[in-house]
Amino acid sequence: MSENVPNPPAHFIRNRIRQELESGLHDRVVTRFPPEPNGYLHIGHAKSIVLNFAMADEFGGETNLRFDDTNPIKEEQRYVDAIREDVAWLGYQWARECYASDYFPKLYEYALHLIDNGLAYVDSQDADAIRAQRGTLTEPGTPSPHRDRDRAESRDLFERMRAGEFADGAHVLRAKIDMAAPNINMRDPVLYRIRHQRHPRTGDEWCIYPSYDFAHGQSDAIEGITHSLCTLEFEDHRPLYDWLIEHLPVPSKPQQIEFSRLNLDFTVLSKRRLMRLVDEGFVDGWDDPRMPTFAGIRRRGFTPRSIRNFCNEIGVTKSESIIPFGAMERNLRDDLNERAPRRMAVLEPVKVVLTNFTEGETEWFDAANHPQNPELGTRKVPMTREIWIERGDFMEDAPKKFFRLKPGGEVRLRNAFIIRCDEVVKNAAGDVETLHCSFDPESRSGLPGADRKVKGTIHWVSAEHAVEAEVRLYDRLFSVPHPAGDKEHDFVEHINPESLQVIGSARLEPGLENAKPGEHYQFERTGYFVADPDSSTEKPVFNRAVTLRDTWAKLEKQLRG
Ligand code: ATP
Ligand code: MG
Repeated sequence: MSENVPNPPAHFIRNRIRQELESGLHDRVVTRFPPEPNGYLHIGHAKSIVLNFAMADEFGGETNLRFDDTNPIKEEQRYVDAIREDVAWLGYQWARECYASDYFPKLYEYALHLIDNGLAYVDSQDADAIRAQRGTLTEPGTPSPHRDRDRAESRDLFERMRAGEFADGAHVLRAKIDMAAPNINMRDPVLYRIRHQRHPRTGDEWCIYPSYDFAHGQSDAIEGITHSLCTLEFEDHRPLYDWLIEHLPVPSKPQQIEFSRLNLDFTVLSKRRLMRLVDEGFVDGWDDPRMPTFAGIRRRGFTPRSIRNFCNEIGVTKSESIIPFGAMERNLRDDLNERAPRRMAVLEPVKVVLTNFTEGETEWFDAANHPQNPELGTRKVPMTREIWIERGDFMEDAPKKFFRLKPGGEVRLRNAFIIRCDEVVKNAAGDVETLHCSFDPESRSGLPGADRKVKGTIHWVSAEHAVEAEVRLYDRLFSVPHPAGDKEHDFVEHINPESLQVIGSARLEPGLENAKPGEHYQFERTGYFVADPDSSTEKPVFNRAVTLRDTWAKLEKQLRG
């Protein structure tokens, strides 16, 4: 992937890894992306994926995809499948696909090792009692009455926990560290719980499951991970991470480094909130193009390259910040501007009759598919006596600065010729129905009048050849920058009622009916669009991925004050 980032921006993790390699602390870099398969990936995860793969890629190492599947209650195979697809879509190939559950036998051995060395004990109190003894930030915790249980007794109980002799919650295994530690995570944290729960991968093999803290670092060590990159909420867990690595006979010594999460404005990024949007029908599913999930942004038309560039651009720090959604859109615009073929599409059509164009005739004009990139080639677009133009490109009582079509005025039809508006035909209600125009035959390209200057150029589509299509205009899902940060209102109250506008019959240039789902185009003067999975030759459907300009930038500035 490094070809996309010729000069990767310096950040503290990159600098630190470089120094460690130079000083000989490591001779290679192995990272992992460790999703819990309890939901779909969202754009926040992209930051972590890009960072993990970039570090390994730049320093000649490799990255594992590790499913952190230690909690069978919430985890499902369909999430595993979707996560795999999403990481591959972003453009990354993992070296190994791993599962924390593959290490259950090893983790069990490690637990016995701690017990045998007096570093862990079985506590037979329930969760409430353990919580009540944990203490607070200002008061130390209270030792469990079982803290000094004989090692042999703990070992026997733990083996029987594993054998299924006890009910859920009857006992837990705890590390024996320090009940007075200032860091609450060090006050004898729970390492194993009893859960009589079938696991998607290990079936009924286990009825005890390791905690996140016990599983994560040891999985890292087993896989030879050198740098375990995670988000800041795990900073307080690092002493425990290090303690376990230090006291266990693990094959390698990974180090945890934390960075701040990606937060985006005008959206929500927690699995729990995303789940609510889907479950309560605020969106049309996980792949609704307004969702910040991989499935959603992909359908919206975001490209993998634009997401990777966005993640590189926002950088990696330890301070929390909220990134404007517009930054993501800008990266998409930049990517598509380079690569998307141009087409003409009229979203809100009004009919134009070219009175001096021969009825029944079709004239084909050459049109470049990209203004700067000749490699994208040219195409022929048909001109006929009747065409569609954008309703907004005509104005009856136009102000002086309106350079599009007005009564008696001239405008150039892109790729074709200049027309003059001679007559405005209205219906009974007084709405403009048809514009009668005449064209200037001398203004065709290649002819002497081709260079004649008129101020405006508009797009158009032959009425006879037009392809009728549904066009979905998407906008921000929420109308406030921090929907989840409002203590007084439920975040769903801030949903933008105009986040989806459906145009039933837009008129597209012929050929677009054959666009395959996922194909991108710039509809000239209108925006970047992508063919939706719902699209077919009979009924093409396009989604607006992003507008040509950032219409939100000004508003965001105002809102930020
Ligand atoms: P959520 O908070 O949305 O439920 P999570 O952190 O529980 O997400 P995991 O599957 O545990 O999701 O995350 C996998 C990896 O992705 C972790 O290393 C986590 O730190 C990282 N990650 C999750 N959300 C973000 C984010 N917003 N920004 C950067 N990294 C993230
Ligand atoms: Mg998590």
